[in-house]
Amino acid sequence: MDMTSVLQQVSSEASKMGIDALLVSPGADLRYLTGYDATPLERLTCLVLPSGRDPVLIVPELERLAAYASPAGKRGLDIRAYGEIDDPFGLVADILGPVGVVGVDERMWAKKLLDFQSTLPRTSFTSAGGVIGKFRMVKSHEEIDELRKAAHAIDEVHRRLPDFIRPGRTEMQIARDVGEAILATGHSRVDFVIIGSGPHGASPHHEVSDRVLRQGDSIVVDIGGTMPSGYRSDCTRMYSLGEPQQEFLNRYYVLHDAQSRAVEAVKPGVACGYIDRVARGALAAAGLSEAFIHRTGHGIGLETHEDPYILSGSDVILQPGMAFSVEPGVYFPGEYGMRIEDIVVVTDDGFESLNQVTHDLIEVS
Ligand code: ZN
Ligand code: ZN
Repeated sequence: MDMTSVLQQVSSEASKMGIDALLVSPGADLRYLTGYDATPLERLTCLVLPSGRDPVLIVPELERLAAYASPAGKRGLDIRAYGEIDDPFGLVADILGPVGVVGVDERMWAKKLLDFQSTLPRTSFTSAGGVIGKFRMVKSHEEIDELRKAAHAIDEVHRRLPDFIRPGRTEMQIARDVGEAILATGHSRVDFVIIGSGPHGASPHHEVSDRVLRQGDSIVVDIGGTMPSGYRSDCTRMYSLGEPQQEFLNRYYVLHDAQSRAVEAVKPGVACGYIDRVARGALAAAGLSEAFIHRTGHGIGLETHEDPYILSGSDVILQPGMAFSVEPGVYFPGEYGMRIEDIVVVTDDGFESLNQVTHDLIEVS
C-alpha cells in the first residue's frame, strides 16, 4: 500500500470510530504511516491527520531537511517547519480548527499530550492505538519480506553462537560477540541480547551478567535487532556446554513438542487464545504447566512487541499477514530455564515460520 492510501484508510477508519483527527508523534506509528523515522525530541514533531482533509507533518526547523529527505518528503507529504520560538501546539490547533475528539499515538510523550490538552481545552483525547494498530497488525507482502530478511539475519547469528560459547567466558563477553554479529548480519541496531546461563536462564528477561560459564551449563540465548527497514528480529534457541542431564533433555523434548504444535496450529480463523492453549496444553500434559509463566507470544513488526498478543483467552482472530512469535518456555528457579522462539506469519491456508535455524538443543563441546 502506498502512503496516501494508508493515510486515507487510517483516517476514514478513525472517523468511523468517532475520532475527528489523529496526532502521531515520532515512533513506529509515524514510520508506518509516512516512512519517516523521526528522532524523538523534546521539540514537537507531529503528523496531523484531520479526517477528510490532507495530512500535515509539523517539524522543528532544524529537522526540516531530514523530513524532506525521508520517504515522507519524497512522497510529497505537506511538511511545515516552525522556528525555535514558535508555538508548535498552537500551530497544530490552527490546522485542526474546532475539533471534538482527537486520537493520539500511544507512545506520545506525556509532556506533549499535556501541552495539547492545555492548547485544546475543549477537545477530548483518546488513544489512536486501536485505529493504527488494526492496520499495523496485518502485514503487507513487502512488510513480510522485511520480517523474513530480519529472521534470516538473526538465524545467521544463532549459527555463529557455538563459536562464542566456551567454559570460562562470561555472559557479558558472549553478549559482546553476539552484538557484533547482530550488526554484521545486516541489522542496523542491536535491540536486546539475553544470555541466560545455568540458573540465570530461569529468569525469562535476564539479560547478561559477569557469571562465568561452566561445563554442564544450559544457556538460553534470546536475541533481536532492527533492520535498516525498521522491521525487527527476535529468536530464542537453547545451547548446552557439554552433555545435559537426562531430566533437562526430557523437559526439552516436551518444550520442543509444545512449540511445534503451537506453530502448526497457526492458520486463519483461529483465535490467538487457541494458539496459547495448544502450547499450554502440551506442557500441562507433561506436568510442566506451573513452569510456563508467560504468554505464548507477541506480534512483531516495526516494534518487537506489538499486536496481536498470543495470550490465554484472547479472542483476536488470526488473519493472513499477521506476524508474531511463538515462544513457550519453562523455568525452574535455582536450576535453569528453557525457551524456543520462532517468528511465524499467518498465510492464506496456514503458516510460514520465518526462522529456519534448527530447533535442536545445540551442544557445544
Ligand atoms: Zn525473544
Ligand atoms: Zn519474543
